[in-house]
Amino acid sequence: MCALDLSKLSDGAVDFIDEDRLEKLLAAPEPTPQEVRDIIAKALSKEPLSVDETAALLNCSDPEIIEEIFDAARTLKKNVYGNRIVLFAPLYIGNDCVNDCMYCAFRRSNIEAVRRTLTPEEITAEVTALEDSGHKRLILVFGEHPKYDAEFMAETVKQVYAVTSGHGEIRRVNINAAPLDHDGYKIMHAAGIGTYQVFQETYHHETFAKIHPTGTRKNDYLWRLDSLNRAMEAGCDDVGIGALFGLHDWRFEVLGLVTHAVALHERYGVGPHTISFPRLQPAHGISLDNFPMVSDEDFVKLVAILRLAVPYTGLILTARESAEIRRSVMEFGVSQIDAGSRIELGGYAEDTAAQCANREQFELGDVRSLDHVMRELLQDGFVPSFCTACYRLGRTGEHFMEFAIPGFIKRFCTPNALTTLMEYLVDYASPKTRNAGLALVETELGKMPDSPEKTDLQNRLKQIRTTEKRDLYL
Ligand code: SAM
Ligand code: SF4
Repeated sequence: MCALDLSKLSDGAVDFIDEDRLEKLLAAPEPTPQEVRDIIAKALSKEPLSVDETAALLNCSDPEIIEEIFDAARTLKKNVYGNRIVLFAPLYIGNDCVNDCMYCAFRRSNIEAVRRTLTPEEITAEVTALEDSGHKRLILVFGEHPKYDAEFMAETVKQVYAVTSGHGEIRRVNINAAPLDHDGYKIMHAAGIGTYQVFQETYHHETFAKIHPTGTRKNDYLWRLDSLNRAMEAGCDDVGIGALFGLHDWRFEVLGLVTHAVALHERYGVGPHTISFPRLQPAHGISLDNFPMVSDEDFVKLVAILRLAVPYTGLILTARESAEIRRSVMEFGVSQIDAGSRIELGGYAEDTAAQCANREQFELGDVRSLDHVMRELLQDGFVPSFCTACYRLGRTGEHFMEFAIPGFIKRFCTPNALTTLMEYLVDYASPKTRNAGLALVETELGKMPDSPEKTDLQNRLKQIRTTEKRDLYL
């Protein structure tokens, strides 16, 4: 076991969230339509927006101008990312926690929570169940506890990669866990993780201090804000930031996220791989009455504005949201969603009710199966993808490449999405989903001009349909 070195921040660490400045920006007068259109034009020319420009978009209230923001987000998403959506599932490994975050059912003062850490056998059972449903990408989730140190988490990652079931295997393991020190991140990097996510929860200092009680580890704002800098310095250059919307003014949190993305980019030449924007959900023993909840209308706005502000960054929308909301924000630039998710410990392999309040961290809004979500995506014209090629070929900063290298999506992303989709259709889909998927694959092939690349793709798709060959990526 290695103890965390809590005194060691990143090289030259500073608290880069200048609250007064952000608040002043949000109190500025509404921008003129021309100012907004100039900012939209900049976003559409695929340039990231500054914090000031993001604030100007957040200050718009004219419904017609807001409609223009929505249109631009839709266009950017279509032009940049196309119609692919990457699918993943969360796997909760342990919910012991030394913190007392006011919003979370895993908080230590919740004595009714059923505490559990999956055994190696239980992890194998969970991963097998996930593979048998068709998943290839997981995010492992941990409470914050000395027993979930980097070595324990790294062992868990290796164990997950080692589980295979039929054609099933997990090809990318991401992590959502407490901040580590440099040594810890080095251990995680060596275990072959994908993204390491740490959400700041709220960028507002006073709110942060209030909801993470004094004396708990999570009460240290700078240790958390600096955590992904340490990750970068330790070699984990694939990091995810996030804010829990509903703790403080949502517009402030958007500026916090964009400031964080800019700070990472300025220091390390690469921004965050993903941004998450979970909304606070009901959780065991927690009343949401005193929290500044974000309305559905504002939620849609925040996703569209984030899309315009950080075009290189993947946006993750989780099953905390209802199927309806997920449908409505998808077109604004979401690039990853989870599906078929179970967040109670052991929930994939054990036959338990889908929602049991004292066994899970919060309530899920979308508990549909992976097959159901896949079918709906296919019917709506999205190409669900389980692709993990960039990560496995060492092409880091994949969103940047998708965005910046002409033809990258056509050459790599679309073919890889289609071959991973074909694996799903052949190995796991229900007949209805398979038919919808095969029709979509034909439509996508129909959009491609004849070329050696297209013939190669058709051959690979045929191999997957007619042989045992899998994992045929570029
Ligand atoms: N324990 C680690 C931590 O706090 O960073 C990592 C895992 S925590 C289980 C994952 C995330 O769930 C938290 O960062 C928080 O944003 C989110 N979360 C906690 N309670 C929530 C709630 N009631 N509704 C929605 N999301 C919640
Ligand atoms: Fe623990 Fe994370 Fe929940 Fe806070 S959010 S109580 S640190 S699991």
